[in-house]
Amino acid sequence: AQSSAAAPTRGGVEITDVTKRYGEAVAVDRLTLSVQPGEFLSLLGPSGCGKTTTLRMIAGFEHPDEGDIHLSGRSVLGLPPNKREVNTVFQAYALFPHMTVAENVAYGLQQRKVPKAEQRQRVAEALDMVQLRRFADRKPTQLSGGQQQRIALSRALINRPAVLLLDEPLAALDRQLREEMQLELKLLQSRLGTTFVFVTHDQAEALSMSDRIAVMRAGGIEQLAAPADIYADPASAYVASFIGQQNFLHGTAVGDDAVDTFAGTLRGRWGGIQGAPGSAAVAAIRPEFMRLASPSDGAVDGPGVNGTVLGVSHLGETLQVAVDVGREQTFLVRIPAPGAPAVAVGDAVRCTWNPSDVRIFAGDGIPETA
Ligand code: ATP
Repeated sequence: AQSSAAAPTRGGVEITDVTKRYGEAVAVDRLTLSVQPGEFLSLLGPSGCGKTTTLRMIAGFEHPDEGDIHLSGRSVLGLPPNKREVNTVFQAYALFPHMTVAENVAYGLQQRKVPKAEQRQRVAEALDMVQLRRFADRKPTQLSGGQQQRIALSRALINRPAVLLLDEPLAALDRQLREEMQLELKLLQSRLGTTFVFVTHDQAEALSMSDRIAVMRAGGIEQLAAPADIYADPASAYVASFIGQQNFLHGTAVGDDAVDTFAGTLRGRWGGIQGAPGSAAVAAIRPEFMRLASPSDGAVDGPGVNGTVLGVSHLGETLQVAVDVGREQTFLVRIPAPGAPAVAVGDAVRCTWNPSDVRIFAGDGIPETA
C-alpha cells in the first residue's frame, strides 16, 4: 500500500527547514523548497550563496545539520548517495578515458549486474537520447567538449533516476555550444519527464530553461517563481539587479506607490514588501523599457531624465546606449537596432519611460549581488 501511495510523488523533492554549517559559516540557512515531479527547477545565485551545498545534500554527499529532505515522498536523511533515486552531472564530465563511450554509459548498469543483453539495449537507448549512438566505440578523448557532456548526461540518465541534479554542467562550453545544449537539455528533460534540479550562476541560462527559478542569497531563497514572473516582478532590488539589468533611482518613499528621486516623484509598483512613507526606497527601470528622446520633449512626455551620451554599443538586434545622467550615475538604454535614431557620443538626450514599467523596492544603497 505504501509503494502505491508513493508512486505519484516519484521525482518530487521536499527540502524542509534545512541548515548546513561549515564551522562558523552558515552555507545553507533554514532553506525550505519543494520541487514538483517532472519540474525543471534552477538554483540561481552568485558564488557562495549555497547552491552547490544544497545540491550535494539532495545527492547525499553532504548532510544537513538541521531539517529534513524527502525524495519521492520518503525521507533520505540516513541514505547513502547510491541508495537515492538521484544522479548528478558535474561541470567536469568525469568520463573514464580508457573506456569507450558505450562502456562509460554502461558503467552504472554493470555495477548493478544488469544482464549483458539488457545493458546493450539500454546503452543504445541512452545514446539515442543524446543523438550520439554512432560514437559508441570511440574513446572520450576523440569527442568534443559538448559531445563529452552529452555522454556524461546519458550515463547519468541510464539508471532512470527520479531526479537528475546538474551542477553548472554547461559552464565549460563556449557560448554558442552552450546555447545549443541549453535547448537540447530542456527538450530532453520534457521528453523524459525527469525532475531536473539545475545549479547555475548564469541568469540567462536559468531564464531560458527553467519552469521555476529559486534565486538564492546567503543560504536562503530570496524569490521562487517562473522566469517570466521573476523578470516582470522581482521581489527585491537584489533579484531585480541579478536577473537582467536595471537603472536605479534612489530616494524616499512617499504615499503608497511613489518615490521621490532626483528625477522627481516617480510612480510605480512595489516589488516585495512595501516601505513606509519617509523610508529609503529605490525606483528601478530596465534598460529595455527606457527610450531616448530629445531633451526638449521633456515637458510633454512625462517622466524622464536628461543626460549626455557616453557610449553606444551594438548588441546585434539591439543598440545599448550609456547615458551620463549626473550624480555619478550612468543609465543604460536598450533600443531595437532596426530603425534606431542616430545617437552619438556627446549628444544631449532625455531618457523616458512609462510609469507602468517602474518598480519600487524598499531599502537604500546599490543592492549587493555577490
Ligand atoms: P559557487 O557558485 O561558487 O559554487 P555556491 O552558491 O554553490 O557557490 P556553495 O559552494 O554551496 O556556494 O558554498 C556556500 C558557502 O559555504 C560558501 O561560503 C562556501 O565558502 C562555504 N563552503 C562550501 N563548502 C565548504 C566546505 N567543504 N568547507 C567549508 N566551507 C564550505
